[in-house]
Amino acid sequence: MMNFFETSRQVTVLGAGMVGVSCALALQSKGWQVTLVDKQAPGEETSAGNAGVLSRSSLLPFNRPGLWQSLPRMLRQGGPSLQVRPSALTHWRFMWRFLWHARRASFDVTTVALDGLIQLSVQTHKHWLMQAAEQQRLRETGWLWLFQNDAAWASSAFARTVLAEFSVASETLRGADIQALEPHLAANFSHALWIKDAASVDNPSAVVKAYADQFVKLGGVYHQAEVRALQRHPQGWQWQDTAGLSHGSANLVLAMGPWSESLLKASHLPSDFKSHMAFERGYHRHFKPVAGVTLQRPVYDTAGAYVLSPMRNAEGEQVFRMTTGVELAARDAAPNTAQLEAAENAVRRVIPLKEAVTGTDWIGSRPTTPDSRPVIGEMPQCPGLWLAFGHQHIGFSTGPGTGVLLSELMAGESTSINPAPFSPARY
Ligand SMILES: Cc1cc2nc3c(=O)[nH]c(=O)nc-3n(C[C@H](O)[C@H](O)[C@H](O)COP(=O)(O)OP(=O)(O)OC[C@H]3O[C@@H](n4cnc5c(N)ncnc54)[C@H](O)[C@@H]3O)c2cc1C
Repeated sequence: MMNFFETSRQVTVLGAGMVGVSCALALQSKGWQVTLVDKQAPGEETSAGNAGVLSRSSLLPFNRPGLWQSLPRMLRQGGPSLQVRPSALTHWRFMWRFLWHARRASFDVTTVALDGLIQLSVQTHKHWLMQAAEQQRLRETGWLWLFQNDAAWASSAFARTVLAEFSVASETLRGADIQALEPHLAANFSHALWIKDAASVDNPSAVVKAYADQFVKLGGVYHQAEVRALQRHPQGWQWQDTAGLSHGSANLVLAMGPWSESLLKASHLPSDFKSHMAFERGYHRHFKPVAGVTLQRPVYDTAGAYVLSPMRNAEGEQVFRMTTGVELAARDAAPNTAQLEAAENAVRRVIPLKEAVTGTDWIGSRPTTPDSRPVIGEMPQCPGLWLAFGHQHIGFSTGPGTGVLLSELMAGESTSINPAPFSPARY
């Protein structure tokens, strides 16, 4: 079946996670005729299972000056913050490039770029949450980084200096001040950094679904199909689904998160993203709260390397979601729950929790590029094929800014932020 190219202002967005839904909404608001495609309902994958944090502090990428020195210790400890599985070794070229981008010159470009994208995104999130009448999901209470002792606090000096350089609002808390802010945390911490330029949501998947509903309400088309391959066509692009049907589109946006690079490869397009993408996998587990025990904001225990976020599940019940640090592994390698168990041991020393909720263990893959900047823009040598993926730890928060930037680039307009650091041409 062919349903081709009625107009050059027609675009199909592949992938309905936070990034794809955001691209669809932003393009729609500029008058494009948009079809959004996913193999399932919106917001069911990586954009569902995250910690729901939207923070300016995320301008700090994992690869930063000092990483080369701290890496041997992190690897020796085999600890909760970083696990490297044998299957990750196929990404050795990525790893080398990732480490190379920890140097100051690259870090400086990345932090400025990410800060612009984050700020644009937060303001767009607020606007869209309001439009979708879901603003009650947003908590503007910041998030809290916890440090066990003076040495841990001292080792965060570089991060704190950079956040101060960017004027990210934060407050240092000591000892009992921490319990004054979050009374149910144990007195295990010597210091905390309360990042105030931050917000969080109580159900990331529900936010993506609300944005997708809004897109459909405003006339957008949602099409459920599994995409198998892309092909050029004289009038634009063609994509095949797994039922063997072909679909045409004047323009395509590829926003399939951790599955984007494999689709380019399966489509034999001139890209080398395989050497430029890796998967920082992470897990989550839900816990029922003990009666009366609450948190007003997500907390990040720097020693336990978990984030604990107060959330509401699909039934609207209060739960605590614990997300883990980084597991470098092949995207589809079998899950290994060691990090989840270690994080649960750590979190139970910090706050009283009831039993873990059966069936809530989850794994997702943060799609990461060597310079920790997402890929946003038109693919070189492939006019009409636009890319929006590679959002590593911050795609839930930065999806909306990505959509706005991409829609401006596609319209040939001046852009709200500098697009150069995100350009696909760098690969
Ligand atoms: C443990 C963890 C914690 C995190 N915490 C945060 C946080 O606090 N804040 C934050 O900003 N970010 C966080 N992130 C990162 C964030 O979740 C991701 O960067 C973001 O969700 C990526 O969004 P996406 O739309 O690119 O990908 P996805 O949400 O994965 O969307 C991709 C979509 O493509 C679809 N798809 C795949 N293959 C096909 C196909 N063949 N055909 C059709 N459709 C297809 C999928 O069904 C999916 O809906 C976290 C990630 C993890 C793993």
